[in-house]
Amino acid sequence: MIEASGLAYRYEDGTTAVDGVDLTIEAGERVALLGPNGAGKSTLLLLLGGLLPPDDGSVRYFGTDQPGDAVRDRLGVLTQDPGEYLFNPTVREDIEYGPAQLGLSAAEADRRVAELAERFDLEHLLDRPPFRLSGGEQRRAAIASVLSVDPDVLLLDEPLSNVDGNNEAELLDLLDELSADGVTIVTSTPDTDLVAAVADRVVLLGRDGRVVATGSTREVLTDT
Ligand code: ADP
Ligand code: ADP
Repeated sequence: MIEASGLAYRYEDGTTAVDGVDLTIEAGERVALLGPNGAGKSTLLLLLGGLLPPDDGSVRYFGTDQPGDAVRDRLGVLTQDPGEYLFNPTVREDIEYGPAQLGLSAAEADRRVAELAERFDLEHLLDRPPFRLSGGEQRRAAIASVLSVDPDVLLLDEPLSNVDGNNEAELLDLLDELSADGVTIVTSTPDTDLVAAVADRVVLLGRDGRVVATGSTREVLTDT
């Protein structure tokens, strides 16, 4: 589904964030990118999502080298910054934006908004401008926007940061349902306790942006 080889990324100030990462993600897998702050998880996720061009190496999607619109339409990437998803006058329009871009009917967009708003407790916030939301509410709205396009592959950068207990449970349930439906899910997290809930396989990154271990969640957690 996603095949990365020799991926490397350096920021302009010379910081090497990702260094020589080889990673294959199979259809339907649940993979966690685990590592301490600064390990390169966010950068790797942006590279895998096609949102940053690698300095070295390459990423192939669905067996093709062409990261065109057809590929982008199948990827849902949640970055750390909710502001990237919230740029319309209202939360409702933010969630509808993706379905509209895909050319779906207004009725289908409405159905998705209603379903996601219910799940993430956003119903009372739909007509509000997104900048008038709390941090956790913004995060939930951003997640709803990403899910509204029904992606085949989800790449989530620390999706539970800033999300409270109730909504955390909702998100974990939803990820389980999506996984059962065959959606491929890659989640980055610094939190070892979370890994077993979101992944069957773990890619452990060290501080230098390299993969230090990979294996089943059980193996990697036992060894660390
Ligand atoms: P993580 O998500 O695991 O916390 P990041 O991918 O955010 O790791 O960061 C990896 C490394 O790249 C860190 O050393 C971090 O300080 C550095 N880094 C991240 N963003 C930038 C940036 N915009 N400019 C320079 N260095 C950065
Ligand atoms: P159904 O036909 O039962 O609605 P779906 O394939 O639409 O099944 O969705 C299965 C589950 O995934 C639903 O419970 C829903 O919450 C969630 N889901 C995934 N993507 C979306 C989306 N874009 N809009 C609404 N729900 C979604």
